[in-house]
Amino acid sequence: MAREVLIIGGGVAGLSTAVILLEAGYDVLVAARELGEGTTSAVAAAFWYPYRAYPEDQITRLAAVSLRRFSTLLDDPLAGVLQRDALEIYPEAVAAPAWASAATDFRDAEPELLPPGYGFGHRFRTVVIETPIYLPWLADRVRALGGRIALRSIASLDAALRERPVVINCAGLGARTLLDDPLLHPVRGQVVRVENPGLTRVWIDEHSGPNITYIVPRSRDVVLGGSSQDHQEDTSPDPELAREIVLRCAALEPALASARVLSIAVGLRPARSPLRLTSEPRPGGLVVHNYGHGGAGVTLSWGSAEAVRDLLHTSVPA
Ligand SMILES: Cc1cc2nc3c(=O)[nH]c(=O)nc-3n(C[C@H](O)[C@H](O)[C@H](O)COP(=O)(O)OP(=O)(O)OC[C@H]3O[C@@H](n4cnc5c(N)ncnc54)[C@H](O)[C@@H]3O)c2cc1C
Repeated sequence: MAREVLIIGGGVAGLSTAVILLEAGYDVLVAARELGEGTTSAVAAAFWYPYRAYPEDQITRLAAVSLRRFSTLLDDPLAGVLQRDALEIYPEAVAAPAWASAATDFRDAEPELLPPGYGFGHRFRTVVIETPIYLPWLADRVRALGGRIALRSIASLDAALRERPVVINCAGLGARTLLDDPLLHPVRGQVVRVENPGLTRVWIDEHSGPNITYIVPRSRDVVLGGSSQDHQEDTSPDPELAREIVLRCAALEPALASARVLSIAVGLRPARSPLRLTSEPRPGGLVVHNYGHGGAGVTLSWGSAEAVRDLLHTSVPA
């Protein structure tokens, strides 16, 4: 069996896939143009929430697998995974989302938790992934399991197939340079990181304005969001938008109004509907695509990685 695999990409998709394939006995080489800070994954808020990813039934399955795996990491103090209560608020009553069945303790929110102007809410338990801790931890897991990570660019899928007979495309938005995919496009997101004034609850307001608002307390800071700007590629921070994000979040948690700003970050979500989790036989070998996770790449990371493993089991002849 072809056990030698080249994974293109060292964001959360590539590294999670590397861990799952190493655990399944594959010989894994990861080639990544950037690691850590340079990736979209490092900008993510990054809490378990199946945001802007489709189709919903597949997303729910993948998100459930991820949540189970993240839950096992709560006990590892080095992994940077925290459990948090989440409150999603709405102007008026809505049905539960499709993914509610995958969430832990999903229920309607008590009316007294709702801020003025909001008529309805959902509560669930989520996990927050502290990317500055988690991504290096994940890379260390890859190496500890015997995988190799090379910091370099792959010019094309054919070039990758000349290196190894099985290639996993986890290049995120970078997949645009590897193949022609008109469905894949950027959705710009901006976050503001502030000192944590003692908050623990995750807030989400996706429906009362043009932009999603969220508050994601981590151990040392809070990630405030956000924006969702289709087809925009400018990664320079917008100071006016940053001020507006803080105001939106402070309307929900007043202590944030005076919290010291630590940094502003911008990332381009690799949006694609549906996300691409398919295998593609090519001359010289097999390519498995694992990209296009939009605003839910962390949420879907372990589920997608297991789906890649399952695709390999059915596609690679023994
Ligand atoms: C502001 C913001 C907030 C977000 N919040 C959340 C959240 O709360 N929860 C959640 O689940 N998701 C969230 N997301 C979405 C999440 O960040 C993405 O879905 C996820 O990071 C995508 O991961 P990836 O590994 O596919 O891509 P990336 O992290 O972009 O990694 C791609 C990798 O491929 C490499 N690469 C690309 N092309 C090549 C090439 N030719 N050769 C070699 N290497 C290559 C890159 O260098 C990089 O290593 C958020 C995103 C943004 C922008």
